[in-house]
This record gives sequence, structure tokens and C-alpha cells, in this order.
Amino acid sequence: MTAVPQIALNNGQSIPELGFGVFQIEPTDTVEAVSTALQVGYRHIDTAEMYGNEKEVGEGVAKSGLDRAEVFVTSKLANDAHRPDDARRAFDTSLEALGFDYLDLFLIHWPLPTKYDGDFVSTWQTLEEFYREGRARSIGVSNFQPHHLRRLHEATEITPAVDQIEVHPFLTQDDVRAFCAEHQIAVEGWSPIGQGAVLDDPAIGSIAERVGKTPAQVVLRWHVQRGDIIFPKSVTPSRIKENFEIFDFELSDGDVAEISALNKNQRTGPDPDKFDMV
Ligand code: NAD
Repeated sequence: MTAVPQIALNNGQSIPELGFGVFQIEPTDTVEAVSTALQVGYRHIDTAEMYGNEKEVGEGVAKSGLDRAEVFVTSKLANDAHRPDDARRAFDTSLEALGFDYLDLFLIHWPLPTKYDGDFVSTWQTLEEFYREGRARSIGVSNFQPHHLRRLHEATEITPAVDQIEVHPFLTQDDVRAFCAEHQIAVEGWSPIGQGAVLDDPAIGSIAERVGKTPAQVVLRWHVQRGDIIFPKSVTPSRIKENFEIFDFELSDGDVAEISALNKNQRTGPDPDKFDMV
């Protein structure tokens, strides 16, 4: 089995570049999906309080027989818990649900600039507490635009280790990725295959045919070669395995550029500057 590369974070920790995402996996299916992923070789799971399956992620990890230290687990703060006291309670509740005494990575899920009087700075300062206590080995943000990151940079002490944003061939996010590169913030790309939307693209199909891989594998490989961290989601064992088999081939620079040129700034999810669901 080819090893998954580790990406070095700005605080000395490292994260497997390929993980397994569990958004929209029913709690009743989660233990099995996580167990399958861990058997296949994934060692990084991406969940969130708002996915409603942290407990089952913890069960899947416990059931695998792997040491806690062998699996990198991320969770995220719910949108209704941005106020510092609520965030402290929510973090404790996430740890309890997972059955862990620390998280590898804990994120603010959405900036919610139209809620909480526009304050996400005090929320970030609360995550800084979790980091200093060692209960979150790394802290980061999700769906933050450069202007949100700039505000944290000016007002707080710790630079986020990651920004988890929607990225796929139809939404290449060049501006956010450039800002993150400049500030040593690792980029995690969510919906890496656009929830399936990019797989029928003819350019991706023809590259896949030429290299003898599936369109999903080609797109996941494109992310890896651009240096982003990804965690595709599936409950289908054959796809969980397929999505892991992306380290035994390489795309040419021309292929990478051709896929990047498919960008049309097309989101599958909400716009972080407008999203206000609490
Ligand atoms: P994804 O791009 O991973 O697509 C998942 C869907 O694609 C699956 O439901 C399945 O139908 C299909 N699929 C998976 N593998 C396939 C294959 N090999 N061939 C054909 N179809 C395949 O989308 P996602 O689940 O939205 O994103 C991945 C992860 O990113 C999530 O599970 C979650 O962990 C994270 N995420 C984070 C946020 C955020 O706001 N931070 C938002 C959405 C997702």
C-alpha cells in the first residue's frame, strides 16, 4: 500500500493529505463507513458537530483497534455555539461524544459574518484556549475568506493551521489559496469532487481514460498535486477504496493545468460571506 503523504502544519503538527469525510452519512451508517475507511488505510477522519455523527465516528475509531494516536480526527464548532461560553461547552460535548480527550484539529465551521454582531474574533480566541490546554492539537477555520483571515491576523495571536474551503475543478479558489500560501495556512478542500458534479466533465473523462484511472481518482490526484488536503465522502466500500488509490500514478503538469482551467467559480455549497444558518 502506498503511504499517504503528510502535510506539515504551521505549528509543527502534521496531517495526512488524504482523509475520509462523513458529512451526510447517517449516524446508523457511520460506524461501518468509518470502519471500512480505516481498514482500507485512511488515517484521517473529518467530522463536525453539525453532522450529527461524532459519537459514531468515535465508535468506529475505537472499534478499529488502532491507537487513538494513529488516527487524525477533525471536528468543528457548531454555528449556534460561537459565543465563548457556548464554544467551551460545545468543545467539551464534541470530545465527550467522540470519547476522546483531545482532537487533532478543531475548526470554526463558518465565519457567519452577519451573526453575533460580526464577531468571530472572540470565538477564535476561545479556540486558542483549547489549543493552549493541549485539548486541540491544532486549531483552524473553515469557509474563511481572505478578509476574515486578515481580521484574525490583526486581532489574535495564533495563525489558523488550516482553512477548510470548498475546492474542486469548477471552483479552484485561487485567491484564498494564494492568501493561505503566503501566511502558512494549509488549505483543506471540501467537496473535492463537487459531490460528483465534476465527474462527467469531458476533459476529466479523457484524462482518466488516458491514464487508466477513474474520473474521481484523477480529480483527487489533481488536488494532491496542487498540495491541498482532501477527504472525499462515500458510504460505498468500492468507492472508499477507489478514492484511496491515488498514489500510484501522476498527472502531467499539462493535465493539472487543463483541469485547473475548468474553473467557473461555481459553488455547490453556500457563499461564506452570506451564509447565516444558525
Ligand atoms: P464529495 O465531493 O466528497 O462528494 C461526495 C459524493 O460523491 C458522495 O455522496 C458520492 O455520491 C459521490 N462519490 C464519492 N466517491 C465517488 C466515486 N469514486 N465515484 C463516483 N462518485 C463518488 O462531497 P462532500 O461530502 O460534500 O465533501 C467531502 C467532505 O468535506 C465532507 O464529507 C465533509 O467532511 C467535508 N465538508 C466540509 C464542509 C464545510 O463547510 N467545512 C462542507 C461540506 C463538506
